[in-house]
This record gives sequence, structure tokens and C-alpha cells, in this order.
Amino acid sequence: MLARCLAVVFACLLSVVVQAAEVVGVRIWDSPDSTRVVLDLTGPVNYKAFALNGGPLNRIVVDLERSSMTMAPEDIANQDTRVTRIRSGRREADGLRVVFETQQPMAVKSFQLLPEKTPYHRIVLDLMLQESEQQAIPVRSAQESARPSSQPRDIIIAIDAGHGGEDPGAIGPNRLMEKHAVLAIAKELERLVRQEPGFTPFMIRTGDYYISLRDRTRKATEAKADFLISIHADAFKHPSARGGSVFVLSERGASSESAKFLADRENESDIMGGVLASRENYLVQTLMDMQMTHYRKESRMLGADVLGRMGQVARLHKSEVEEAGFMVLRTPSMPAILVETGFISNPEEARKLATERYQKNMARSLFEGIRNYFQAHPTEGSLLASLKQQSLSQQTHIIRRGDNLSTIAQRYGVSVGQIKQANNLTSDRLHVGQELKIPQS
Ligand SMILES: [Zn+2]
Repeated sequence: MLARCLAVVFACLLSVVVQAAEVVGVRIWDSPDSTRVVLDLTGPVNYKAFALNGGPLNRIVVDLERSSMTMAPEDIANQDTRVTRIRSGRREADGLRVVFETQQPMAVKSFQLLPEKTPYHRIVLDLMLQESEQQAIPVRSAQESARPSSQPRDIIIAIDAGHGGEDPGAIGPNRLMEKHAVLAIAKELERLVRQEPGFTPFMIRTGDYYISLRDRTRKATEAKADFLISIHADAFKHPSARGGSVFVLSERGASSESAKFLADRENESDIMGGVLASRENYLVQTLMDMQMTHYRKESRMLGADVLGRMGQVARLHKSEVEEAGFMVLRTPSMPAILVETGFISNPEEARKLATERYQKNMARSLFEGIRNYFQAHPTEGSLLASLKQQSLSQQTHIIRRGDNLSTIAQRYGVSVGQIKQANNLTSDRLHVGQELKIPQS
């Protein structure tokens, strides 16, 4: 009997030991309007998170039941953030309190995630700036540069650097992370677009932080973008796979096995970032897909222009635009493409992707593809559209034997004076082969 009791007590003790969790990692990322803190734990815990603002300190407090933390503050990754100090202390009944001191008052939302692609359970804390503290978000700058509707506006290019924050994307043999390589290419593309008259860039991710796939498309829509380009450099099953490729959203199924593989991998980004899919989302998505077919043709044409340019600076994985169910391409109000700028799993391409030279060449090829497309197919109401209209409406006439100013004027329904003025002519003399601008009557 005693032995049995002892066994029960021992079992209880054991279960306590098994259930106790240890905080083994703390990682922090700032985004323009929030800060994400992730606690890595060896098991699931009951916890409470709350803000203690006011007074001399602004704090976010997390109380965890039956937990411990032995890591030193200097082990905490990404320290240069809005979190200025981290403290931890024991609480009654094996509890643990972790306090995050922040630069300014912040609110907190939190959730817990099961191990998913990492060995640890995670508590995710999203610390949000109070409204008055929020920086002007870049959306506004894109809207400002879109002038009043009567004036021709810029074409807005939404540039999405894939992954970010706790989602590193693929990792190359040289430890290069996809999220860093694609942000470098995105920033170079932003610079080129900004320099080009008639275009305005809009960066969806500006630093090393996570954004859900849905929020990426939402940001592009809010910025009233005319086009979304999502930039990646993924890993593939075989390290020998290499070359760039361009994808558009497919209506049904993927155009190849590799396209499906890559889309599945990309869509896992939200699992890393802790976004949970719901059936409701699925239904909304289906409705959106129907709207999106409208932009399929444009997306494909844009993709082909970009792919053509990419082929001049890089080897191509597939010479045609491919299709697959990439979540980030579900943009109901604009055409969208996803580019794989190379396979980070290929040692040679990983080396290239890490160089500024390759990043710049790649960005330039993306830019030229986009620019060529919009010069040929400018969006209605844009500066590019009005420039194209002007050049089309300006007729020219090449002088042939027997032509004189009054016969030409008669033919085009304008006056001799108008022709002379448009061409700065001081006399009526013409010569064969001379090119005359014909003003609009
Ligand atoms: Zn990716």
C-alpha cells in the first residue's frame, strides 16, 4: 500500500516536472507600428500578458505558471528595439514573471503556438504603439504622391520582400537567409522605381519583421497600388535546382510539380508567423479568387516582361511564366507576380545572392520589366497614359515631291500658320524627306 502511494506521489512529481516549461529563447523584432516578442518554451504553459503603463516606466508583463528562465539578458536576440530592458523573477508556486520595459507606452496582444517547424512552443506577444505614437505609415506617402484625380497620377508599384522577422525564409549553405537577400533586392528596386518619372514605389516590408500574407496584400490594396511584386529566393528539394522564375496565381492547380512545391513552402510563412487559417477565411478567399481572374491576363503579361529581362542577367529555371496557388498573390484589385530570384539552396546561387552586384543586377532587371510593361500598357489616368496619348496624337508628315504648305495644311485640316509655328519655320520653303510636326486642329 505504502509502495503504491509512493508510486502515485512520484508519478505526480514527475508530471509536474514534465509540465514545467523553461524559457529558452527570447527574440524581438520592430516593425513600423508594432514590436513582436517571441518566447521559445520547452512545453506549453498557462500564462497571462498585460501592459503596465504610466508612471516612470512602461512595461509589458508576462506571468507564466510553473516555468523558469535561466538565460542571460545578453543571450536575447535582436536587442536594438523598442524594448529597452528585460527582467525576470520568480513568483509563488513555481511561477515566472518576465517584464519588458518599452520606450513608449504600448498595448499587448498575445497567443501561444505549438511547435511548428521549430522544436519549441512559442508565446507570441504583439506590442502595439498607441495611436498618437505611431509613425506616419508609408501608405500615406504613396497616396500623397497619387495626385488629385483630375491630374495624371503616378503608377504605384507595391514591392514585397518575402518573409521577415521570425520567418527567415529559406537558408542557404552559406547561412544566407532568404529574408535578408530579398530585402536587399527590394530596396534596390524601390530606389530605381523612385527615380523613374511617372512611378512611385511602396515598400510592404521595410525591415526585419514579420507580416502575414494577408496583411501584405491588404497593405498593397490600401496603398492603391497598380501592381504587386513579391520577391523571393527559395530553397528546393535538390540543391542542383537553379535559376530564376516568375509565378502568377493559378485558378486551379499548379503548372508544374516545382511550382506547387514552392507555393506550399511560401504559404507556410504564416505558420511560422502564427497566423491560423479559418474556414471563414477560406470562403472569403474563394470569392476574392473570382474577382482576381480579371487581373490574370495582366499578371501573365507583366510576368512575361519581367521574366524576359531576368533572363538577361540570370539563368532561368523555367522560360515561361508559371502558375500556382500563392496566397500573397490573392490581390483582388491589381495584377500581381511572385519572382524567385534564384535558389538559395544552390551553393553557387546562394553565393551570388549574397553579393551586391547580383542583387543590383536582379533589381534592375525586375525594374526594366515592370517599366516596359507599364510604358506599353499604362494605367488609365496615369501620367504615363497621358504621355502615351500625347505621342500618339502628334502626327508627322514627311515631305514628298510636289508637297507644299497649303496642300499639307488642307489635308490635315489645319492652317499654314499653325504648321509653321509648330515647326518653327521662318519661310515656306520645304525639302523632300523633311519631317513636319502636324499640330492638332
Ligand atoms: Zn520565399
